Amino acid sequence: MQDDRNVMIVDDDAHVRIAVKTILSDAGFHVIAADSGSQCIELLKEGFSGVILLDIMMPGMDGWDTIRAILDNKLEQGVAIIMLTAKNVPDNKMIGLQEYVVDYITKPFDNEDLIEKTSFIMGYINDQRNSGTAE
Ligand SMILES: [Mg+2]
Repeated sequence: MQDDRNVMIVDDDAHVRIAVKTILSDAGFHVIAADSGSQCIELLKEGFSGVILLDIMMPGMDGWDTIRAILDNKLEQGVAIIMLTAKNVPDNKMIGLQEYVVDYITKPFDNEDLIEKTSFIMGYINDQRNSGTAE
């Protein structure tokens, strides 16, 4: 399960899930979609590792709740989280959780920006893995 091109898009908006899946699949990534934070947690429990593109504003469990659940379930190994934000709204829930977010993408996103950031973070995960093999 050490595929180094795995991406999970977590968003309650089907249009966003389809757009991200199309754009990143065309760019050579393996993309799976989750429509909620709880589905994201399920996929992590099933062994997903890679980049998670996580929507902040979702009904029920929002993006920050999802990060909290990832940590509570100790599922953070081998994943890097990029938050999808509608805009720069002040958000008190992010306090203490920002350190688990490697980048932010503002919606509506630019396709090139999405591909570039995902590729960069993917490289970062793989570097972590490679350096981890010496331990
Ligand atoms: Mg949303």
